[in-house]
Amino acid sequence: MKVFVSGGAGYIGGVVVSQLVAAGHEAVVYDNLRNGHPDSVPSAARLVVGDVGDRAKLCEIFAEFQPEAVMHFAASIEAGESMRDPAKFFRNNTANALTLLETILSHKVRCLVFSSTAALYGDPVSIPIRESDRLLPINAYGESKLLVERMLGWFHRIHGLSYASLRYFNAAGATENLGERHDPESHLIPIILQVASGLREYVSIFGDDYDTLDGTCVRDYVHVSDLASAHLLALHALHSRPEPTQLIYNLGNGHGFSVREVIECARRVTGRAIPAVVEARRTGDPAILVAGSEKIRAELGWTPQYPGLEQIVRSAWEYIQRGKQGD
Ligand code: UDP
Repeated sequence: MKVFVSGGAGYIGGVVVSQLVAAGHEAVVYDNLRNGHPDSVPSAARLVVGDVGDRAKLCEIFAEFQPEAVMHFAASIEAGESMRDPAKFFRNNTANALTLLETILSHKVRCLVFSSTAALYGDPVSIPIRESDRLLPINAYGESKLLVERMLGWFHRIHGLSYASLRYFNAAGATENLGERHDPESHLIPIILQVASGLREYVSIFGDDYDTLDGTCVRDYVHVSDLASAHLLALHALHSRPEPTQLIYNLGNGHGFSVREVIECARRVTGRAIPAVVEARRTGDPAILVAGSEKIRAELGWTPQYPGLEQIVRSAWEYIQRGKQGD
């Protein structure tokens, strides 16, 4: 299949593109490289530097490449930042997605796999969260993605678009070649490992007065390779069904770990002390986000290969260690 991948030079997109080309698909990566890295794109894929908001450029690439499917990763992703600069999220995530959707329709592409998020649920009504639960984001990031899911629903109904919306819980871990490289880094596991590597003095714990067992926020960490394999399953499901199809899935492991538990795990894996300092809560953080992913397991046969937190943290640590050796 010919697949157009926006944001394919990023952390999750890069791993998906590697799996796509390994499975024999043809991929064009479309990325503005603001957060992506050209060396995350495998040599078997083509990289086009461009912005999803650039309608003319999108049309040019669609006309030339004639994709059969689109995967849309490109987005602003930091929930904390979205509470300081919401316009950036509604521009990059919502408005630009509409431009991409219009391009998809005008070029008669039938299938789309969309990167959605657990942030759609806000403070969950019950744990584990199910896809049918109430959607009530408590940060602008979640709202910016919820608006896209709503648009997708209408495009499916009115234009027969087949799409999968994959609601990621906390992507983490690394493959042999690809790991998390945000600059500046804001995510918990890479920050903890920067402390372990001596690049930071300590990790801040954003709040220890949440209604959780140890007072710190609880998240469901999923290995990036497992997230990626779900995209290929969704793509095949959409492609193989001739009728307009709508798939909405949570991607989590069903186990929650508190910030303190993640730090403890990293101390075990790295053998380093990893000092931690409790600070104020970060605005827009739900106390607990843990997913039930029975739906994608039952319907598409998704089976995470690295469901353990220790495996996930170890893979990220080994990736960092390998990078150091290469320096
Ligand atoms: N977190 C923290 N210190 C940090 C970064 C994150 O305590 O330096 C917490 C954050 O408040 C959240 C959890 O770790 O409860 C995971 O945050 P991350 O930014 O990795 O992902 P998010 O859940 O926001 O998608």
